[in-house]
Amino acid sequence: MNRILVIEDEPAMRHALEDALTSTGYRVITAADGAIGLERAQSEHPDLILLDVMLPKLDGFALAAELRRLRSTVPILLLTAKGGVEDRVTGLDAGADDYLAKPFHPQELLARVRALLRRQERGAAPVDHLRLGDVVIDFARQTASRGSQPLHLTPKEISMLRLLAEARGAVITREQFLDLVWGYGAFPTTRTVDTHIAALRTKLEAVPAQPKYLVTVHGSGYRLVLPT
Ligand code: CA
Repeated sequence: MNRILVIEDEPAMRHALEDALTSTGYRVITAADGAIGLERAQSEHPDLILLDVMLPKLDGFALAAELRRLRSTVPILLLTAKGGVEDRVTGLDAGADDYLAKPFHPQELLARVRALLRRQERGAAPVDHLRLGDVVIDFARQTASRGSQPLHLTPKEISMLRLLAEARGAVITREQFLDLVWGYGAFPTTRTVDTHIAALRTKLEAVPAQPKYLVTVHGSGYRLVLPT
């Protein structure tokens, strides 16, 4: 079931959106200001965000831009109060995928939600396995092997490798590991990430002190270098 985060400060509009979406079978999470909205977007991993533009604390444009800076690919449907072209352009430039000007018909809203969710499903290319030298990690089965021998990786280690693999060479920061692997409600420190990377290097690298695959990007985080 798809989960939709509604970020809207006007209670009447928030409730109307929530009703329209839940009665169609979506699960709905709500936030009444931009700061809480950003926090829920990161902790709840919604499948889509309905985002009002004029919001207390953090407006919709800034929120969309911040999510894209954090490498979130969640579809964002911007709800603009004004019909002005400037708002739409600013919103799309900030990283929104589509917009709808208020007032709108619930049927049009639902059609746009369906379209964005379909587009997201088509575009998602999950990585199902990863090969590093003679080690193969199977993300669907959550198992790993070296040659014909099973290799023990913990669920956290497998999740970290998946995140790195899906980033396709881009840096994953320690904070992103904590957000996306440990999740909301856990309170490990960024040192925890380093400890897990060290353990992974011991298991995966020929010379753990000189990693070929799990590379440190100083002052930033880690990235995965795939063998060519
Ligand atoms: Ca508003």
